Amino acid sequence: MRHIQRRIALLALPALVGSILVATGPAGADPTGPSAATSRSQPEDRESVRLVQIRLTGADMLDKVAAAGFDLEHGLRRVPTGIEGEAVVTAEQVTELTAMGVEVLADDAGFAWSDQADGGIGVDAAGAWAVQPSNHQATVRIARADWFTTKGQGFLYVEARTTEGQQADPIVGMQVENDSGKGTPFGFARTMSRFVDSGQYMFHRNLFKLDTRPTRIQVTSSTGGVTTGVVSNWLENAPPPLTANPSYKSDFVDGYKHPQQLYSRAKEIARQYPDIAEIVYLPNQTNGYQRKAQAQLGGTGQAAVVVTSAAWGHEGGNDITVEFVDRPDANLPLAVEVTGKAVRVLLATDAAGAPASTATQVADALRTRSAGLIDRAHPYRTNEGSGIVAPTAGPVALTDFLDQKRVGAPEGEVPRGPATIPVLRIGKHRDGKKPGVLIQAQDHAREWVPATTSLESAERLVHNYRSDRETKKIVENTDIFFILSNNPDGANYSFYNFASQRKNMTNHCPDASADPAQRNSWGVDLNRNYRVGSGHDGYAGGSTNCVSGTYQGPEELSEPESKNIIWLVEKYSNIKFMMSVHSNGGQLFWQPGAYIADGRITTPRPPLGDEAFYWQSAARILSQVKAHRETVVTPENVGGSSDVLYSSAGNVREDLYYTYGIYAFGWEVGGSVYNPATGNWQGGSFQPEWTGNPELVSGHAETMEYANGIMEMFRVAADWGKDKKDPTSRLIPGDGKYRGPVDVRFETSEPATIYYTTDGSRPTLESPRYAATEFREPGQVFHVTETTTFRWFSVDSAGNIEKNYDPTKTDKRNNYRTATITIAKK
Ligand SMILES: [Zn+2]
Repeated sequence: MRHIQRRIALLALPALVGSILVATGPAGADPTGPSAATSRSQPEDRESVRLVQIRLTGADMLDKVAAAGFDLEHGLRRVPTGIEGEAVVTAEQVTELTAMGVEVLADDAGFAWSDQADGGIGVDAAGAWAVQPSNHQATVRIARADWFTTKGQGFLYVEARTTEGQQADPIVGMQVENDSGKGTPFGFARTMSRFVDSGQYMFHRNLFKLDTRPTRIQVTSSTGGVTTGVVSNWLENAPPPLTANPSYKSDFVDGYKHPQQLYSRAKEIARQYPDIAEIVYLPNQTNGYQRKAQAQLGGTGQAAVVVTSAAWGHEGGNDITVEFVDRPDANLPLAVEVTGKAVRVLLATDAAGAPASTATQVADALRTRSAGLIDRAHPYRTNEGSGIVAPTAGPVALTDFLDQKRVGAPEGEVPRGPATIPVLRIGKHRDGKKPGVLIQAQDHAREWVPATTSLESAERLVHNYRSDRETKKIVENTDIFFILSNNPDGANYSFYNFASQRKNMTNHCPDASADPAQRNSWGVDLNRNYRVGSGHDGYAGGSTNCVSGTYQGPEELSEPESKNIIWLVEKYSNIKFMMSVHSNGGQLFWQPGAYIADGRITTPRPPLGDEAFYWQSAARILSQVKAHRETVVTPENVGGSSDVLYSSAGNVREDLYYTYGIYAFGWEVGGSVYNPATGNWQGGSFQPEWTGNPELVSGHAETMEYANGIMEMFRVAADWGKDKKDPTSRLIPGDGKYRGPVDVRFETSEPATIYYTTDGSRPTLESPRYAATEFREPGQVFHVTETTTFRWFSVDSAGNIEKNYDPTKTDKRNNYRTATITIAKK
C-alpha cells in the first residue's frame, strides 16, 4: 500500500510565542539586599524556553516523553503518523527530545490529512488496491461520514473500520470513494489512514476537502470488504445563536484577566445582581502563591550545596543570607554562626589551612545548626556531595524568585500566600431543585482563554436576564456554578513569572529535583489528581515524576484544588453537568478519557443512551460556537478523549461522571481554525494575542465564540431538567414471522439506553444493555436464527423510563416492551 502525504503548513507558530512564552526575566542583583556584598545565586535556568512543533510516533512515546518531565500537553493532535503538538522546551531539551526519537518539525512543516478531493493525489486504484484472494468474511463498517462547511470550504470526514484492522502482516488498507450528489457514481478514490493507539487498531479516518457535498460514500478494504453509507451533516444549519437577538448584550470581557481580577469581578456580580447571583467559597485554601527562599552555592557539581529556607520567602525566607567563610588557620572544625537572619558557615580547614568541608558536611551543618532558618540543605540533584565547597564572595541572599517579573507581566503586586477560591453561582432558584451546571476553568495555569470565556458567559447571563427571553429561561431553570480560575497560584505564576506554567505551585519534589533551577517544573497537574482511572491505579497519562507536566501528585486528591471540586459536587448534588474548560485545540471530550496502556483497557464506556446524549449535546454546543465566525470543531476531535486524543489518567471528568453520574464534558477552546487564504487549518496557542486576527487566532474571538457554546450548554441543562417525556423504542423489524435468519436492532425516539432480555425473564437494570457494535458506532445488530422473544425498556438521559415501567420491582402490569421474532422451521 502506498501512502501519499502532503506536507503543508498546518501548525504555524503563532507570532505571540516570541513575546509571551519567554523564560523568567534576567535575575539581576537586588540592590536592596542585606549587604552590598550580597549576590543572588544564579540557578542554571536562564536559558529561554520556546515552543516547538513536534511529532511523536504514538501514545507510548507520549508517555515516555511526559514521564521524562517534558511539558507537552495541549495543542496535541492526532495525525495519521502519530501525535503532533507543541513542546515548551529549551534548546538543550530539543536535543534530548530528538535523542528519544521525537521528530522536531520545522516551524512551517506540519502534517495535514490528505485533503484533495479531485483525485489529483489519489491512489492509483489499480496498483494499490489489488484485491487479495480471500476465503474469509472481511467486513467493513462506516462509523461516521460527516459533511460540514467552514468559511466557504466543504469538508468530508470519514471514519470506518475493518474487522481485520489489527492485522499487521500485511496491513489491511482502506479506500474511500464518494459520489457528487444524489444519483451520481462513486469516484475520487482516496486512501484512508489507519489509526493505531497503544498497540490497538482503532479505525481508519480522514478529513477531506471537497467542493461538492456527496450524498453517499463507499469504503473498500484491500481484502475485499466493501460497504456504503449515507453522508450526514455536522453542525450544518445551526439555529441562530442567542447573540442574533439585536437587543442581546455580549462582548463584556476586554482582555485577559488574572485571578484577582476574575474573583473581584465575580464578587461584584454577586453584589450587583443579588436576586440571581451569590458567591460560594470553596473550603480548601490553595497552597499559595509562595515559595521557600533558596540559593545554590559552594561551587558546581559535587561541591554544590542547595539551601532552602524554613519560612516562606515573603515571611522571612527572603531575608536570610548564607555565607561560606574561609579561615586562615589549619585544622579548624566546621562551625556555623547565626546572627539574626545571617548564617555563616565557617568551613573546616586541613593541615595546610585550605578549606576541607564537603558539600554533604556543609548541608548537614546547615540543616541542624542554623537556628531553624534552613530546613532543607543537600547536595545538587543526585550528587553525593563529596566535593570540597568553595568559600562565597560574601553573604548570599536566599530568594523565592517571585519578585522576578516576566517581561510583559501586568502591573501590581500579587498577593502572597494561600488563596480562597470563590464560586460565582447564578440562578433564579438556587434551592437545589434545578439542574446544576459546573463550569470549571483554568485548571491549567497558562490557559488564559478558558477564564475569559467563562467570565464572558457569566456576564451574558446577568446582563441579559431581564431583557432576553432565552437568557431568562436559562437563569430560571438552571443553577450555574462558575469557577473562573481553579488554579489561582499557578495562574498568577503564569501571568507574573513564567508564562508557560501549567500546574499548581505545590512542590512535592525530593532533593534530586528541589534545586531552584527546577522551580518552573514543580507542581501538580490538577487534571491528573482525581480518583477514577487514575495513574495511581495504573492508568496511562499521569506521571509519577514531580517535574513532569502531567505529575499526578503523591496521592489521589492530594491537592486542595481537586478536593474542592469533590466538595462542591457533593454539597450541591443537583450538579448534573460539568464543563472542564481548557485550551487550546478545538476539541470536545467526554468518557472514556483514560486507559490502562497494556491492552488499552479504557474506563467503562458510557451506556449507549449517554453516548448519544453526549453527541446530541455536543452538536448543539458546537453549532453555537460555529455560529459566531464559522469555527468548526471537527468530528474527529469530538468523543471520548482517550479515543480521539490520548489517555489522561485521573482527570476530573472521569471522577465526576463515574462517581456522581454528572455529564462531564471537557473541551479545548481555541486553535484549529480553517484559514481560507492558505487552505490550511491553523493551530492556536495558550495566550493568543487578545486582539489578534479576528478571523484566525485571537483571544477575543475565541472568548466570544466559545462563550456561545457555554450558553448553549446551559440550554441543554435547562431542557434536560424539563424533560419529563418518556422515551419510546422499537425493535426493527418487529413482531413477525420470518422465513429465515433475520438481523434485528433497536431504535429509540431520543438518546436512551435499552435494557433487554431474550431468556423469558423480565428486564431489569441488571439486564444486558443494548450496546454499540463498536465504540463511535451505532447500536449493534443481532443475527436471530431461532424464534426469540425480546423483552425490554428504555431509559432516557433524564432518567425517564418508557411507559413508566418500574424495573426495580415486580408489578402485575409488566408494562415493559416485548416483540417476538418467529423464525419459520424449514
Ligand atoms: Zn488544560
